[in-house]
Amino acid sequence: MNLLPADLFPPQLHVFVRDWLSANNILLKSRDGNVLIDSGYGRHAPLTLALLAGARGLGTAPLGFLVNTHCHSDHVGGNAAIVERYGCPVAVPAAEAPLVERWDGRALLYDYCDQQVERFPVDHVLPPNTTHVWGDLEWQALAAPGHDMGALVFYNAEHRILISGDALWEHGFGFVMPPEIDPAALPATRATIEMLSRLDIGVVIPGHGEPFTGVAAALDRARKRIGAFEADSLRIARHALKVNLMFALLDKQRLSLAGMPAYVERIGIYRDFNALFFRWPPAKLATLLVDALVDAGAAKREDGWLIPA
Ligand SMILES: [Zn+2]
Repeated sequence: MNLLPADLFPPQLHVFVRDWLSANNILLKSRDGNVLIDSGYGRHAPLTLALLAGARGLGTAPLGFLVNTHCHSDHVGGNAAIVERYGCPVAVPAAEAPLVERWDGRALLYDYCDQQVERFPVDHVLPPNTTHVWGDLEWQALAAPGHDMGALVFYNAEHRILISGDALWEHGFGFVMPPEIDPAALPATRATIEMLSRLDIGVVIPGHGEPFTGVAAALDRARKRIGAFEADSLRIARHALKVNLMFALLDKQRLSLAGMPAYVERIGIYRDFNALFFRWPPAKLATLLVDALVDAGAAKREDGWLIPA
């Protein structure tokens, strides 16, 4: 973990560091209207609202605008609740808007990955290479395809701050689709990391984890991971299924071990990846995925259930 000097962020910027299930929320305050970037996962919406209404948040002030880096469930899950509470407009990346408007649960990885999101309105779209003043700071919206092909990152050159969503974490980035599913995803991930390496970034506010300053090292780790993925499609496929199962486990808090074979047959991403990459009986895929989470220390078996460790 980094120790961040208090003056790293201007005072009108506050980061609510959340967890794996809910993406971080970034609040940018201004007399011209307060802006929130990303809203967490739906199940955590009550906590998101409480943080927003708290002393580090808005208090009793209004929220002027809600912005999303991309439209995965852990970034937009609080959108509906925030719109209901604050009545503010929602802006999503331009490439994501049509998917949200037709509520494409496969492209957005909602029901396709067994993730629940309450439907929300889109009022504005954010094209890449546009500049926005949020929290009295200028933010460039830059296309950051890869993990999500329509994702944006937001860059403030004055303070050298990058709001990276899932395009860059301190250790890695959000899972990427294998080339057999989307041939553009991994090359785009590499191009995004190279694009970011050309920016002068002092601190990254990632979608998950603490803000961090070791930007060059994080970019190097990302490049290494991309190299390993490029060498082995099966590795990408396994990784994608593992992180999705862990997400589902954190969401539901327990999964029936006896029900796992039926689960991996029912939920699209497991069924499709198994047909394409592994061609195993569902019970074998289920066992290997559960073993992988248990071996990694992320989950444990208890009384017939898989639970977070
Ligand atoms: Zn994501």
